[in-house]
Amino acid sequence: QSPLHITNEPIKPFESTSTDVLLLKKALQKYQSKALEIPLIINGEKIFKNRTFKAQVNPSNHQQVLCNYAQAEPSDVQKAIDAAMESKKAWAKMSLDERSAVFLKAADLISTKYRYDLLATTMLGQGKNVYQAEIDTIGELADFFRFNVKYAFEMYKQQPCESTKGVWNRTEYRPLEGFVYAVSPFNFTAIAGNLFAAPALLGNTCLWKPSATAVLSNYLLMEIMLEAGLPKGVVNFIPGNAEKITEQILNDKHFAALHFTGSTKVFKNLCKEIYSKDHFKEYPRIVGETGGKNFHLVHESCTLEHTVLSTLRGAFEYQGQKCSATSRLYLPESISSEFIDLFKTYLSQIKTEDCSENIKGFIGPVIHEQSFDKLANAIEEAKKDPELEIISGGQYNKSKGFFVEPTLIKTTNPNHKFLKQEFFGPLLTYYVYPNNEFAEICETIDETSDYGLTGSIFAQSRDAILLANEKLRYSAGNFYINDKSTGAVVGQQSFGGSRQSGTCDKAGSGSLLTRFVSVRSIKENF
Ligand code: GLU
Repeated sequence: QSPLHITNEPIKPFESTSTDVLLLKKALQKYQSKALEIPLIINGEKIFKNRTFKAQVNPSNHQQVLCNYAQAEPSDVQKAIDAAMESKKAWAKMSLDERSAVFLKAADLISTKYRYDLLATTMLGQGKNVYQAEIDTIGELADFFRFNVKYAFEMYKQQPCESTKGVWNRTEYRPLEGFVYAVSPFNFTAIAGNLFAAPALLGNTCLWKPSATAVLSNYLLMEIMLEAGLPKGVVNFIPGNAEKITEQILNDKHFAALHFTGSTKVFKNLCKEIYSKDHFKEYPRIVGETGGKNFHLVHESCTLEHTVLSTLRGAFEYQGQKCSATSRLYLPESISSEFIDLFKTYLSQIKTEDCSENIKGFIGPVIHEQSFDKLANAIEEAKKDPELEIISGGQYNKSKGFFVEPTLIKTTNPNHKFLKQEFFGPLLTYYVYPNNEFAEICETIDETSDYGLTGSIFAQSRDAILLANEKLRYSAGNFYINDKSTGAVVGQQSFGGSRQSGTCDKAGSGSLLTRFVSVRSIKENF
């Protein structure tokens, strides 16, 4: 039986005169006043000595070093594997009650004692405004930890077997025999947390490689886990060179699962590597959430203002750096000019700025120079391509931070690569379709969906909703009707897609948890 009535962690409004703002500003100052030195944490031990360090900078001000973090060496990776295998002996034997207590306590520490530190480190390091940081590093993170407990109890309770007189059948949810490798992205501290928390709750132990651009907040989370009572060695924190660390891990026969969020390209390479090897003790489980090219399909029956605002938020909140961000838009001819005029009016009020200074600023920097350059190149390409036209935005500047203006691009070709390729930034491309070709545009969207993560239909017509729902069945693992393509809430909409977007194992659900157990059926005759 689930021990708790679990609800979503409330999001704080950060009203300008509140103590919340004062406490946040203090935390922001603290992390800007001195660059922290961040160790590896292996078997509960902090390792600094004789390691090479790398800097994590503030993307709003790339001259500001936020921390220098130690890079894991081959001997560290080996130590982390040994620690994970050793600590598993006791951790796997603990009851779910005891393991749950650690995550429930961590969720409380996240939303109380460490709230402002987590917000500040996520805002500074990952370029979020306070709202985006709240819904990620407080709300979603605490929700994952708590809802996983609920789902784990539900899973353990399920007994797919009847017992008869003289026979007792039972099901055991064993942890995997080896260790789990968690590879996390920069864009959500919550996702990073769930990548190790979901398997660990079930008695698995992990090696956790955080993203190079999120080490500061992720390290703080690692410290919180230890304070919450996570036994040493259950999660081992090993930032460093991704390729080298991965190669070493995949050469170990005890590698039992990959839990990954990141780019499609990296995930595909990892899958290829894993499938090419024949030395693992068990078939590794592969769970991945990757890219997206998420659509908003607008029907002429939509509510205009709501659709415009939802699109603005879906496309440009957190600079379009959510896997779920809206990056392609389909407008019916009859309302396209009105839509675009209103969209541009709102857009003209948005300033690109440092959101750790103006904590409620709408749009901040993109994460790093590589991403900035990719977006700048795409904008330049759009200027030259006769099938593309920049309707709004198009400015970029990296002299201080990696700032790219939210940019709206029109295309006359429904198969244009700008409607297929992921840019992971504030670029939105739209196409105008003839009103009477709604069914055809649904088909075009599906045909051009190599990815299958999120998408939305905006319509009041039930026929249009039904048609889109049916035709776009596999184009989005998270399908929204009259809502933006971003912002899944744990416990309400589980998250994940198929096709090139991942294994659709749905973060924030019981089905994800089933991937990290190995089920044993036991029959006993009396
Ligand atoms: N779960 C987030 C959302 O629904 C996106 C997660 C991601 O970017 O990977 O917006």
